[in-house]
Amino acid sequence: MTSVILKPHKEESLKRFHPWVFSGAIAKIVLDASHQSPTPEEGELVSVRSAANEALGVGHWQVGSIAVRILAFGEEALPANFWNERLRAAYQVREALGLIRPDNNTFRLVHGEGDFLPGLIVDVYADTAVVQAHSIGMHVCRNEIAQAIIAEVPQVKNVYYKSDDTLPFKAEISEPKVGYLIHNSQSTIHNTEEFWSVENGLSFRIDWLRGQKTGFFIDQRENRALVERYAKGKDVLNMFCYTGGFSLYALRGGAKTVDSVDVSQKAIELVNVNVAHNFPEAKNHTAVAADAFEYLTAQKAKGCTYDLIILDPPAFAKHRDAVKNALRGYQRINAKAIEMIRPGGILFTFSCSQAVDKEAFRLAVFSAAAQVGRKVRILHQLHQPQDHPINIYHPEGEYLKGLVLYVE
Ligand code: SAH
Repeated sequence: MTSVILKPHKEESLKRFHPWVFSGAIAKIVLDASHQSPTPEEGELVSVRSAANEALGVGHWQVGSIAVRILAFGEEALPANFWNERLRAAYQVREALGLIRPDNNTFRLVHGEGDFLPGLIVDVYADTAVVQAHSIGMHVCRNEIAQAIIAEVPQVKNVYYKSDDTLPFKAEISEPKVGYLIHNSQSTIHNTEEFWSVENGLSFRIDWLRGQKTGFFIDQRENRALVERYAKGKDVLNMFCYTGGFSLYALRGGAKTVDSVDVSQKAIELVNVNVAHNFPEAKNHTAVAADAFEYLTAQKAKGCTYDLIILDPPAFAKHRDAVKNALRGYQRINAKAIEMIRPGGILFTFSCSQAVDKEAFRLAVFSAAAQVGRKVRILHQLHQPQDHPINIYHPEGEYLKGLVLYVE
């Protein structure tokens, strides 16, 4: 196996189980005999060693500032049954957390570094797992991963691979980045037209073929349950609703009316399908395809107000250099929402930008409140749920944050 030798003292973060080796930490690379090229292959398994030749771990090589993502610390080769054991461990945690129940078959099975599998995301919807590779190494291993999912997760019969948006765009990959890796289900679900997955007793049509990310945003499950608790008798606006997760919980919680808004027409169609399936009698739900800023401006001009608003925008900052603009965006959208909350109303506001930390987000929301001049108190500070764990040595894994505000 190819060895990657680090510069002196660069082994310390690896000894603390941080899984990334930055290219600047590397002193030299000793290629194994099989290589024709002068560098390791993208996605190749390499052994990482300290300057004193101590084995620090094995991981996937990739061109870029993160040169190696460690899979197994302290090893010189990948242990036998590695994938089965890691996936079993991930499954057992979800089981222990009480996420696998007849009324809940929707959960994240693997959350990258948070499950000691850097570069890999696996979401489970009923009998189908959707796999996303964020590294070339995980792409190379996708078939082994699919086999291990089938072996270790009893409910899963199909594994769909969806990495067209997540693999580094410069990587030269000839194999398909989307498509089924394993397909056993005899049901009609493969076209996702009649496919339902259940979250806390609510059914959602999940479209991994055409939908965003893996098809659904599992990371808001616990926060949706909190909306349900506050929804009774309220006029609710679910802004950036996607397939209507928050809307369904608000309806179940007894909301007086729910307005769902998203710029995507396809998302709005799915919201309507989901509402009709779960609440066939509901006459108090409206779904509108519109831009958030334009919608809020138009509603305000009409004098429209709400008791409860949910703001769950897409990541405004995808990179560190976009943070300043993102913060301005968060301030603007939150100011618009706070203006439209009735006295004694509630705002659920989120940021899923990893590059914006919770202090910066809170400051943006503070600026919005101050700009509007309303009295605002923080009731809850929210975050990503238990099936999106954060490796304590890898704080970069924290991305979702939210505030629940009481607006007077
Ligand atoms: N709250 C959702 C997830 C939201 S993801 C849930 O619980 O499932 C962010 C959503 O914002 C996406 O559906 C995207 O289509 C939508 N979006 C992006 N830009 C928008 C804009 N300018 N106005 C309204 N919606 C937008």
